Amino acid sequence: MFDLKIDTEKIDAIREIIAKGDNFAVLVHTNPDGDAIGSSTALAHYLRKMGKVANVIVPNAFPDFLMWLPSASEIAVYDSDKERCDALLKDADAIFCLDFNSLSRIDAMADVVASLDARRVLIDHHLNPDDCFDVKVSETKACSTAELVYRVVEMLGPAEALDVAFAEAVYTGMMTDTGNFAYASNRKDIYQIIANLMQTGIDKDIIYRRVFYNYSVNRMKLLGFAMYDKLKVYPSSNAALLTLTYKEMRRFCVAKGDTEGLVNMPLQIKGVRFSCMMREELPGKINVSLRSVDDFPCNKVAAEFFGGGGHLNASGGEVYGTMEYAVERFKAVLAKYKEELTR
Ligand code: 5GP
Ligand code: MN
Repeated sequence: MFDLKIDTEKIDAIREIIAKGDNFAVLVHTNPDGDAIGSSTALAHYLRKMGKVANVIVPNAFPDFLMWLPSASEIAVYDSDKERCDALLKDADAIFCLDFNSLSRIDAMADVVASLDARRVLIDHHLNPDDCFDVKVSETKACSTAELVYRVVEMLGPAEALDVAFAEAVYTGMMTDTGNFAYASNRKDIYQIIANLMQTGIDKDIIYRRVFYNYSVNRMKLLGFAMYDKLKVYPSSNAALLTLTYKEMRRFCVAKGDTEGLVNMPLQIKGVRFSCMMREELPGKINVSLRSVDDFPCNKVAAEFFGGGGHLNASGGEVYGTMEYAVERFKAVLAKYKEELTR
């Protein structure tokens, strides 16, 4: 399998942008996950180490189990502190856009970001990035955006920049976006990076426990309830569906991050190749998560049926309406993709 390479011209362009600026904003997508928070805190840590001001700004809150990452407690959250975030964005000499490919993925922040003159640098691993970025490090073969941040920083140098705090953040992004290296992680150079990260002194077993052994009792109960009562398998379509209504989410006091990973679980069932989870975040607003194995295109389904997108094997979108209507949409997916699901 090939090794991933980033064009040196792109690195030169980023080097010049960093040299010319004093103040940078680092943005990630709505509902930030381990890769979003890991890659952004890693890059911000690097920029600060280079003597710059760097602020991570996220559209909405992120899970508590990521709060230990470098300076995570200083992350500005747009939907709870719009004024501060707008001021930070205005002061930025350049804006790094991490782990998303289109301004629509930062929701309410999109308009203000689009209105600023600051240059925009994209570092991301999603398909089909928009044209609104001045420099694009867009590599869909990367296991995570964190892997790309590592590569960019390694090429920018100096070698001392690869310190333990940086390495912990990068490792977290790589680990979470690959389900602890269970998928999207078949390139040998990924493990060369991990060896380099471990060279800094990180303890990968502790990082695993901080992220995956840090759930609430509510999450465990929700998991049991979801698998026992709410999982529907469609054996003739090799598919599975999990639904959680707003009322059920309230019953288990679901907090940010509590449903993380749930959608992957039905893929453990023999024969299941496509898994969908629908959770009603607010009455009438249903968040859709899709996962698949092999070549079943979640991103196509997400774009066609749920107004979203993502990766081949992990995508998301939304439905506005009742859960009954959302389930009908899911059944329409199974009808349309019957052949792809069963071949
Ligand atoms: P999750 O199911 O964890 O929320 O999202 C899985 C992946 O799907 C994310 O990493 C992201 O790439 C993509 N994704 C989720 N929601 C959306 C959406 O609304 N639009 C697009 N374009 N991608 C999404
Ligand atoms: Mn990612």
